[in-house]
Amino acid sequence: MSYVPSRLTIVMYHYVRPLARTKFPRIKGLDLTLFEEQLDYLIRHYTLISMEDLIDATAARAELPPRPVLLTFDDGYLDHYEHVFPRLRERKLRGAFFPPSCSAVDRKILDVNKIHFVLASDTDPELLVDFIENACRERAQEFGLHDLDHYRREHRVGNFLDSAGVNYIKLMLQHALPPELRTQLTEQLFRRHVAADEEAFAGELYATMDQLRAMRAEGMHIGSHGAQHLWLGYLPKAEQEADIDQSIGLLDAVGMPSGYRTMCYPYGSYNADTVDAIASRDFKLALTTEIALSDAPADQRFALPRLDTNHLPKDASAAPNEWTLKAGA
Ligand SMILES: [Zn+2]
Repeated sequence: MSYVPSRLTIVMYHYVRPLARTKFPRIKGLDLTLFEEQLDYLIRHYTLISMEDLIDATAARAELPPRPVLLTFDDGYLDHYEHVFPRLRERKLRGAFFPPSCSAVDRKILDVNKIHFVLASDTDPELLVDFIENACRERAQEFGLHDLDHYRREHRVGNFLDSAGVNYIKLMLQHALPPELRTQLTEQLFRRHVAADEEAFAGELYATMDQLRAMRAEGMHIGSHGAQHLWLGYLPKAEQEADIDQSIGLLDAVGMPSGYRTMCYPYGSYNADTVDAIASRDFKLALTTEIALSDAPADQRFALPRLDTNHLPKDASAAPNEWTLKAGA
C-alpha cells in the first residue's frame, strides 16, 4: 500500500446557529448541534491547528502535525461570537475569523447577506426571479444589459448547494448585473421580504468590534475579509489596495499583531494584483473558496483551498468520508 502524505484541510463556515430557534430557520446555515457534532468528528479524526500554527509552519517550511485541520469563519456574524467562540474555547481550540469592516464597523448589511435572508423568507424563488427579470426588461437600455437569454444561459445553473433558480438569483444579484442595479434590486427585495430597518437587523446579524476584541484576547485569529466585501479580482489595483488598507485598520483595532496578517478573499475572488498587494503589506497567508485540500501550504500560501462544512460529516461517530480519507486518515 502506498504512503498517503498528510494533507492540510481548511474548513469554511458561515452561519452557525440553533436554526429552529431563530427567526429565519430556512437560512442556509449550519445548525449548532451539528456544528458540535462536526467538532467532535474532527477532534476524533484530525489534529486541530490554529492559523498562527499554520503561519509559523509555512514560514519555517516545517511539518504540520498528522491530518491537520484549520477552522475558518467568514463574514463576522454574531453567530461566531455567541455560538462558535464559547464552544471552541471550552475545547481549547482556536479558530480564524474574517469580518469585513463594513459590517463590523459601519454596521451595514452585506448585499450577499440580504440575498441570503430574502431567499430564507417564505417567498417562492420563481417570484424573485420574475421580479429581477422584469426589472432587467424595464431597465435594459438604461444599464446596457444583455438580453435575458444570455443571463439565463450563463447563470441559471444549479450546484451542490442550490437549485438552478436560487443560484441564478444569487449570481444575478451578486455579480452579473451592473453594481448600481444589483444593489437597488437587493435593497428592494430585502425591504419587501425581510426587514424595513437595516440598522436594527445589522445589530442582530454581526459581531461588534468589542466582541471581536474579546475573541482575539482569548487567542482567536482575526483576519481581513476586505473592507467592503468586494470581488477584488475584478477591480483595478488601486481600488483593491484602498480596500485592503482599510481592512488593516480593523485588524489593528482588534489587536492583531502585524506579523500575523491573513486574508480571506471575499467570494474567493482575487488576481495577481491582489496577491501583490497583500504580499507587499506583509500578509502571511490567504484563503480562497477553491474546494480542495492543500498538499503544499507553503507554496500555496496566497491561494489556500478550503472545504465547506457540508463536505465533512456532521455526526461525531460517522465513518471517515471521501475528504477525510484524502486527508490521510
Ligand atoms: Zn464573505
